[in-house]
Amino acid sequence: MSDCLFCKIAAGQIPATVVYQDDRLVAFKDVNPQAPMHVLVIPRRHISSLNDLTAQDDALVGEMIRRAASLAGEHGYGDRGYRTVYNCNADAGQTVFHVHLHVLAGRSLTWPPG
Ligand code: 5GP
Ligand code: ZN
Repeated sequence: MSDCLFCKIAAGQIPATVVYQDDRLVAFKDVNPQAPMHVLVIPRRHISSLNDLTAQDDALVGEMIRRAASLAGEHGYGDRGYRTVYNCNADAGQTVFHVHLHVLAGRSLTWPPG
């Protein structure tokens, strides 16, 4: 989608600190980190929110989650632990409408979330 911030990051049109990319996914550091590790994993293809996923996206979502686990491990947080979050729409605080998986680690994360 032409005016989507994360599509532009995936296309390299807006700079970001990219920590992983392949033909389907890009992972980059969140510009406003909420933990020592705060990475966003996104699909290159524009999908606005979790509500727009179809069964054909199941493999893509699996790749996102497994990539999150790999990145947490590579950053040294696999054993200690990390949190993965998909926010969907207003009550969850979604602000960028291109599906993204937050990966947070490096501090004790409270539960329930705010
Ligand atoms: P949401 O609130 O939609 O779940 O998460 C959006 C995330 O994108 C926020 O954590 C926010 O800090 C991050 N973000 C917003 N704009 C940019 C940007 O231009 N670059 C990067 N790297 N992260 C961004
Ligand atoms: Zn997009």
